[in-house]
Amino acid sequence: MAEKLLEVTDLCKYFELKRGLKGTQVVKAVDHVSFEIAKGETLGLVGESGCGKSSLGRTLLRIYEPTAGEILYCGKDLARLSRRGFLPYRRKIQMIFQDPYASLNPRLTVGEIIGEGMQIHKLCTKAQATRRVQELLELVGLKPDHIRRYPHEFSGGQRQRICIARTLSLDPEFIVCDEPISALDVSIQAQVINLLELIQKERGISYLFIAHDLGMVKHISHRIGVMYLGHMVETGPSNDVYHDPLHPYTRALLSAEPIPDPRAAHLKKRILLEGEIPSPIHPPKGCPFVTRCPYAMEVCAAIQPPSFELENRKVSCFLYEQWRIRERGGKGLASLPQKAPAQPPANA
Ligand code: SF4
Repeated sequence: MAEKLLEVTDLCKYFELKRGLKGTQVVKAVDHVSFEIAKGETLGLVGESGCGKSSLGRTLLRIYEPTAGEILYCGKDLARLSRRGFLPYRRKIQMIFQDPYASLNPRLTVGEIIGEGMQIHKLCTKAQATRRVQELLELVGLKPDHIRRYPHEFSGGQRQRICIARTLSLDPEFIVCDEPISALDVSIQAQVINLLELIQKERGISYLFIAHDLGMVKHISHRIGVMYLGHMVETGPSNDVYHDPLHPYTRALLSAEPIPDPRAAHLKKRILLEGEIPSPIHPPKGCPFVTRCPYAMEVCAAIQPPSFELENRKVSCFLYEQWRIRERGGKGLASLPQKAPAQPPANA
């Protein structure tokens, strides 16, 4: 792995809900999540809606204050910094939001929107800012004379390009892309993805790329992380995770991905998960996926699985501990009550 830029350890973000007579309840949006991102690398983050992907991105940027855990950025723990101490990192860590319509102030011109950050951080004079904004507009495929226009005069794809130009105006090293293409037409999605890839190649920026479209995530990411109910259940190189998923949830998620070839789609076996997604207010005691997992064992309901390392991958599932112990000729989790499947999943 190239030099680490970001190292997140046991990061938690809990929200308190005040519910009348029920008192205060806690939503565990992000629960002991650990991962790392190297310089110039893209980590794709996938999972169902409400699994905590966006909360994780926002917690990294301190839009939400972390409840616990470490966010080491170039060796400095961002989670421990005061608001003032975090200010220099605001420039280096930026975010592209999902909705290009809501994330641009309709009362400001494009020039004011893109130049605002540079003025706040005192990076240049007003005249220099105008030149810099025009350069950025050209970089993202817009015209320099768009500087005087307002956001409503642009299409969705063009607005997302303006958002990207605004993000780049501060010369960031790391960008959280929070579903930046989900509000765009398919043809425009490809253009925005190509633009992000080009910018990464030229500037060596690292991305945390949050999305629902697994094919797109595989295309843009070097590694993929899979989240379920606030937990990171699997991470690994994108090709490995996509073609050989380990965690039962990742398998179900990938089996639901549409295939453009009707014959191949007909042959593909879809894994239908039974049961409801548990509430993050009352998550299951053991493995977060235990209520829907076709391989669930008794141990899964009692203990939360740790992250097991398998070569260059990590997976939080007892199946792989069972499998490794059996491989070594041991008795597995024999001391615990269990009904493990005879074999681990085919590709384990
Ligand atoms: Fe399923 Fe148990 Fe693995 Fe959780 S730990 S994914 S319940 S087999």
